[in-house]
Amino acid sequence: MATIGFIGLGNMGLPMARNLVKAGHRVQGFDMADAQVQALVADGGVEADTAAGAVDGADVVVTMLPAGEHVRTVYGESVIGRVPAGTLLIDCSTIDVESARAVAADAVAAGLEMVDAPVSGGIAGAAAGTLTFMVGGPDAAFARAEPFLQVMGKTIVHAGGAGNGQAAKICNNMILGISMIAVSEAFTMAEKLGLDTARLFAISSKASGQCWAMTNYCPVPGLVEAAPSNRDFKPGFTASMMLKDLTLAEDAAEAVHAATPLGREAARLYRDYVESGHGAIDFSGIIQMLREA
Ligand code: NAD
Repeated sequence: MATIGFIGLGNMGLPMARNLVKAGHRVQGFDMADAQVQALVADGGVEADTAAGAVDGADVVVTMLPAGEHVRTVYGESVIGRVPAGTLLIDCSTIDVESARAVAADAVAAGLEMVDAPVSGGIAGAAAGTLTFMVGGPDAAFARAEPFLQVMGKTIVHAGGAGNGQAAKICNNMILGISMIAVSEAFTMAEKLGLDTARLFAISSKASGQCWAMTNYCPVPGLVEAAPSNRDFKPGFTASMMLKDLTLAEDAAEAVHAATPLGREAARLYRDYVESGHGAIDFSGIIQMLREA
């Protein structure tokens, strides 16, 4: 069993850390919010007062932080240059590709092994240990990280070198953001054309318009049991998080001169939705804004 330093015990990090504890690992947890650390301790984790304390004596470091700036700060100040050579670093946060590659390069220069391993599956997936991990990093680092990721997830995919986990995450979520808007537009137009949305669903879910946003997460209530549209758009995955990922996609597209006109438009619409006070609503709630337009 390993000693794991876990930094960032928020909505996602805490249940992920709990699963590592359940698997028998010693998990030394740190978060800026003490209540989160105490919640882990109550479930068998070990309290750390600082990020540096969490990584002290750890074989593996796992981080689940809000954004690139936090990841750069935590690894720069408290991990790289402090942990011994050979320590495995796993960053599960969703961050910009550039930060992921910069931190990984610093880690490798210090004799450490690192992967970026952002997730999809949300808070429910984190609690159930069924997350999907998209992993970027060298083969050897991936092989070492995989058994730990299997404790927290169900599907683990090696996407290539450093930063490719983040690249996969933003490409996937750009498809999701665009397709949620496409489904919302089509179902709203159907209503206005006098076409029953249940009939459109029966047809389109079996035809070429089929997509995950429609058949797993339909923004029209009453068609897909598990969809947040059936529960007043309670998240789920918030509109703010979708905007965060679409903004990361926009920035990445600009950096590599990729043409993403629909990705850009999806980001603009989600920005409007969030700025009109709907950031905490599930991202499928954007159908309400499109219906009113
Ligand atoms: P969160 O805000 O609930 O948790 C982040 C935690 O990090 C907080 O508890 C905060 O106190 C802590 N933190 C911030 N800076 C810190 C520092 N310097 N040292 C120690 N702790 C620090 O966010 P979350 O929902 O858990 O998301 C975490 C990451 O996972 C984000 O990058 C997010 O985009 C990604 N993600 C979230 C979901 C989701 O459904 N919530 C799904 C997929 C990916």
